[in-house]
Formats: sequence, structure tokens, C-alpha cells
Amino acid sequence: MANKMSNVTEEEAFRDVISTVDKSGKRNWIFPKMQKGKFYKYRTYVSFVLLALMFGMPFIKVNGQPLMLFNILERKFIIFGLTFWPQDFHLFVLAMLVGIVCIVLFTVVYGRLFCGWACPQTIFMEMVFRKIEYWIEGDATKQKLLAKAPWSAEKFKKRFAKLSIFYAISFLISNTFLAYIIGVDELFRIITDPPSEHLAGLSIMILFSLVFFFVFAYMREQICLVVCPYGRLQGVMLDKDSIVVHYDFERGEPRGKIKRKKPTPTAKSPSHQAFKIGAEGVQLQSQAATLEPELGDCIDCGLCVRVCPTGIDIRNGTQLECINCTLCIDACDEIMEKVDRPKGLIRYASYNNIVEKTSFKFTPRIIAYTAVLVILTTVLTFFLATRSDFETTILRAAGVLYQEVDENTLSNLYNVEMVNKTTKKLPVSFKITSPPNATIKMIGQKKDLVIPEQGMEKGSFFIELPKSEVKVHKNKVVIEVYSGERLIDRVNTNFVGPIK
Ligand code: SF4
Ligand code: SF4
Repeated sequence: MANKMSNVTEEEAFRDVISTVDKSGKRNWIFPKMQKGKFYKYRTYVSFVLLALMFGMPFIKVNGQPLMLFNILERKFIIFGLTFWPQDFHLFVLAMLVGIVCIVLFTVVYGRLFCGWACPQTIFMEMVFRKIEYWIEGDATKQKLLAKAPWSAEKFKKRFAKLSIFYAISFLISNTFLAYIIGVDELFRIITDPPSEHLAGLSIMILFSLVFFFVFAYMREQICLVVCPYGRLQGVMLDKDSIVVHYDFERGEPRGKIKRKKPTPTAKSPSHQAFKIGAEGVQLQSQAATLEPELGDCIDCGLCVRVCPTGIDIRNGTQLECINCTLCIDACDEIMEKVDRPKGLIRYASYNNIVEKTSFKFTPRIIAYTAVLVILTTVLTFFLATRSDFETTILRAAGVLYQEVDENTLSNLYNVEMVNKTTKKLPVSFKITSPPNATIKMIGQKKDLVIPEQGMEKGSFFIELPKSEVKVHKNKVVIEVYSGERLIDRVNTNFVGPIK
């Protein structure tokens, strides 16, 4: 029992240390080894598409409007050309709820697929900044040497070049980020007008650039490890059926280094049983007989650890620090190819896939969760697509009851607010359909209100009603809103008369 306990403690010992913090509590700078491979290639393609979309979308205009805009200051949001106003708040709440449920369900089934393939932090860090770093400073070994080397002209030149490019890209990201918030037109105004006219805008631009620079030049993987709330929630969202980047411990253990290779392997994997670990190291199985345990497929080369951008050893199992970047898969596949063993010792799999030695398949659970995801997304899409382009709010003026126009007529004062979400001006008129003898009298010059494109207009009017039709204190009124001959909205309100 005590032995078993000590084994568990030993196996779990890796949980007592953080790969990016040394024993004295200082930052352990990670120098991941450059690794290419199938997954890296596909991730590069995906990142190019996502980067093009991210940088391009604020510049794409539909009917003169940006494809995407999140103008918090003016409370105006455009998503794929559709303008959303504060009046669409219910859709926003729905989208948030759907988003949260989707994130949880998606993570339960597919693990941190998003982190590795689509997260902006990973894409910029691994596909932009890291590539530049490799280009200027070389692979991990050269980077380590440069970091340790005393300051020289060469070191200064490399660091200056790297950090200048990092800042330039951070500036670009900051400008793009601002373009999503204030729109490209306003952004160009800030850039081209004299600086004195946009001191606040320029300050924000520089501040954002410095923040992005700090994130990618210094914080790096720490964002994923300690800042990102999604990363922190992994522990409660993943289970033994979640598909994550996994080391096949059933196949890989016990791990051990290769010394010599048996000429004609006959094992379950081409050379799986060709090695035995002995006092002098790895020997041929035939020589070692049954003295030492048979080795698994992991040759303990450590490459999967050296390529990891968060510095962890995936062979210890699923860990919070793993952003599922797939670099260890590519590294291990490369090694397996070299030692003539099947690829996939590290692969996308669930814990149960590994234990039960089954490959990934769509289980009823995955299908059910995916179906819920599709249904929720469809419902949200339906609500977005059928959202009305026009909103009318009519409220009786606060603090005013009714007025007597003459001995036969009463009137109520109303305020109207209309939002036009389309890209065309909209002249509107009102018609009361109930009660039949009610009339409407606009206040001011505006007989017909004209609502500007993607804008709002306010107005006031009286509704007059013959006393004979005011039967109760609160009388229901139905007002139809027309643009030309087209009915665009119908609003219910109340007409207040004397208390009876
Ligand atoms: S363990 Fe593998 S997948 Fe996870 S972060 Fe490290 S290299 Fe990427
Ligand atoms: S890369 Fe593969 S073989 Fe090498 S240590 Fe990692 S798991 Fe073992």
C-alpha cells in the first residue's frame, strides 16, 4: 500500500512544479524547438485564412457599412453587415447564452481544439511572432545561447531587429483592433489628421500597441496559463471522453532509450519488442531474455517536451497548460518514422480511447452534443435573420394624464422613438386602427417623420379621442406605422381617460 502511495506521489510529482517557473520562483523562459510536420502545416494554412479575415474584415463594406463593427461608445454593432442596436439586446443575451453553452459543449467533446487552431493569442504567438523569432534568432539552441551571451553588437542588432518588428506588428494589430471598434473611416481620420486633433485616439492607439507588444514579447504563454479564463476552466469541462492531444501511455510505456536495433522485428509494431533495457542500457530482446521489462514505443527522446511552447511533458497526461497546439504530435510522429514505429504515439484521442485501445469514433454522446450545438446555432441564426429592420417605441408622456381639447374630445400626449436599421432613409407615417375614431396630430413641423439610414428619430404627437369612446380609464390603442404604402410596424399603447 505504502509502495503504491509512493508511486502515485511520484507519478503526480510533476503537478508540484510549473514548467515556466524555476525553484526560486523566477520565470523560466521557454525556448521551444522549431518543429514542422503535418499538423503544423495545416495549422499554418488555417492561421493564414484567419489572419486574412481578421485584418480584412473591417475594410470590407456592405452597402457602405463595415462587415464588422463593435462600437461600444456609440452602442452600434454590425455583425456580417447586419446592424444591431441596444433595442436588439435580447438577441445579444441570446447570443451570449448560446455562445456559453456552445463553448462548454464543444470543449466537453472536442477539448481545446479552439486554443490550438483558432485562438488569436496562439495564432499570433506561434504563427507570427514565433516565426519571426526563429527567422532572426535561429532555433531554440541558438536562442538560448543568445540569451546567455553578454551584450554585443550582434546581440543588440538581433534583439533590436526582433523587438522593432514585434512593435510594428503590435501597432498593426492595435490599429486593426481599433478599426473594429471605431470603424476604418474614423481610424484613417486619426492617422491622417494633425495629431493635436485626435490626442485621445492616438493615445489609445499607442497604449493598445504597447499592450500587444507586452503580451507577445514578454507574457507569451503566460496569457494561456494564468490570464485566459477559458484555459482556467478546462479542469471542469474536460472528462475522460474529451478529445485532446494525448500520449498513448498504453503503447509508449515503459519508455526507454534505443541503443541497438534488432535486424528483423516481428512485434505488434515493427520494432516494438526488439529492445530490452539491461544494466548496460538497451539490448536486443534475445540477449536480455526475461531479465528486464519489455519497453514501450516511447524512446524517451524528449523531443515532445522540447517543442512544447508551454514547456510541459504531455506524457504526464492532460494538463491545464496544454493548449493543444499539436507540435508534440508532429515531433513524435517524426521520431516514430525514424525508428520505424507506427505514428500516433501522441495523437488526438480521449483518455478512454487510449485505455480501451480504440480509435476516435463518433459516439452517441458526441453526436448528441454536436446536435445540440447545431440546433442552438440554427435557432440563433434564425433569430438574427428574421430580426426586424425597424423598431418603434411609443410611450405616453410621463407625468401627463389627459387634456380636454373641447367639450367632446380628450387628448393624450405621446413620445415616439424609431430606429431604422436599414441602409436607406425611411419616411414614416402613423395610422390608428383602434379605436376607429381616434385621430393623430403630430407636434411641430414634421407631418411625416424621416428616419435616417442606420439612425434614430424622435418625435411627439397627440392622440385625440371623442369622449363618448373613452369608456374606461385605460383604453387600448393600436397604431400602425407605414413607410409609403408599406406597413412596417404595429404598436399597442393606452389612451388614458377620467377614472370611472
Ligand atoms: S503538450 Fe503538445 S499540444 Fe500541448 S502545448 Fe505542449 S506541444 Fe502543444
Ligand atoms: S517524442 Fe515521442 S518518443 Fe520522444 S519522448 Fe516524446 S513521446 Fe517519447
